[in-house]
Amino acid sequence: MNKMTTERIRTLLCDMIRCDTINPMGRPHKLTRTVERPLVDLLQGVFAGTGAVVTPLPVSELHENLEIRIAGRQDGPPLFFESHMDTVPADDWPDTALTPRVDGDVVYGRGACDDKGPLVSMVAAVLDILESGEPPPYPVILLAAGDEESTQTGIRQYVGDHRGPYQIAVFGEPTSNVPVIQHKGVVRWDITIKGVSAHTSQPEFGRNAIHEMIKVIRRLADYQDEIEALHSNPLLSGPRINVTRIDGGRTRNAVPDECTIWVDYRIMPGLDSAEERQKVIDDLALLGLDIAHAEPQVAMPPLSTSPESALVRQAVAICGAVTGREIAPVGAPYGTDAAWIDTGTPTLVIGPGDIKHAHAIDEFVTMTEVMQCAEIHRRLMMHDWRAE
Ligand SMILES: [Zn+2]
Repeated sequence: MNKMTTERIRTLLCDMIRCDTINPMGRPHKLTRTVERPLVDLLQGVFAGTGAVVTPLPVSELHENLEIRIAGRQDGPPLFFESHMDTVPADDWPDTALTPRVDGDVVYGRGACDDKGPLVSMVAAVLDILESGEPPPYPVILLAAGDEESTQTGIRQYVGDHRGPYQIAVFGEPTSNVPVIQHKGVVRWDITIKGVSAHTSQPEFGRNAIHEMIKVIRRLADYQDEIEALHSNPLLSGPRINVTRIDGGRTRNAVPDECTIWVDYRIMPGLDSAEERQKVIDDLALLGLDIAHAEPQVAMPPLSTSPESALVRQAVAICGAVTGREIAPVGAPYGTDAAWIDTGTPTLVIGPGDIKHAHAIDEFVTMTEVMQCAEIHRRLMMHDWRAE
């Protein structure tokens, strides 16, 4: 960092935490503006007169993105940076969640680590480049995204409208400044079995949908174990299939004529969510039951960046130099917005703060990590990726 002081970035982070960008997450709400609007207003003010091109991009009545674009010395595919503006609710932390508290190096508040700490690191890097007067080799886009915490409509709409190509993509989430280069995808859908009702004294005249669903659930568990052996990954645990809900039955004395389960299938890097779901459907068909599969409620691709890519090698070197620690790239069990970028773009996730504290009471981030991450971003933005 040439121009940014910890004090200045801490003040900006505290201002960002004061912005109420709580995502209602599908629950009833009284908002008459977008979730992200207060932070969009703040960031527009921060970048006013800096030379950055700042564009609010509506996503829906409830959400919006803010694109911050700076020119490079040359035209060419931009570098893409993204962190999200929305936060999870703070029902369990009502009084002080939006009142930032500073204690030495630590800043507490809703969003301190998820995701305003990572976002302020990217903002600081862009401001530092603009104020130092030396443009980056190629254009840089910083997308402050909406609606990450609920249905990722912000990033999905943006990459739908702006397909790229991008030279690299960097997503900000709390990773303790360690590059996350792979995570699982997820596909969720409902499976329903139709049975035939009958009096429970003579079940032979019916077909018990719950009993048949037990065969499906057993098969899903075996299936997971079988594919685990096929898809081992040094950075991650194996594929995971969970039945997260079961519904069925009408009365105590009737054979149930219907049973529905919710399935959550975590897809390994390198695999396609739709194809993997189809394999499950084909496998369950061998049971010979009357099974119906609903359309997926969610289908998020995995993040599958190679540890050998130029982005990862450079990022590891930069993180090591900036933090003074031995850094190795890791995988993450959770999903992020990075899943939605085109799979041809070398992509990683990095940010200050620990995911353990995200979504929790007394969520916090340290300014040491914020400033280190800002420097990591600045170096990633200033690197000539075409010269690799
Ligand atoms: Zn987040």
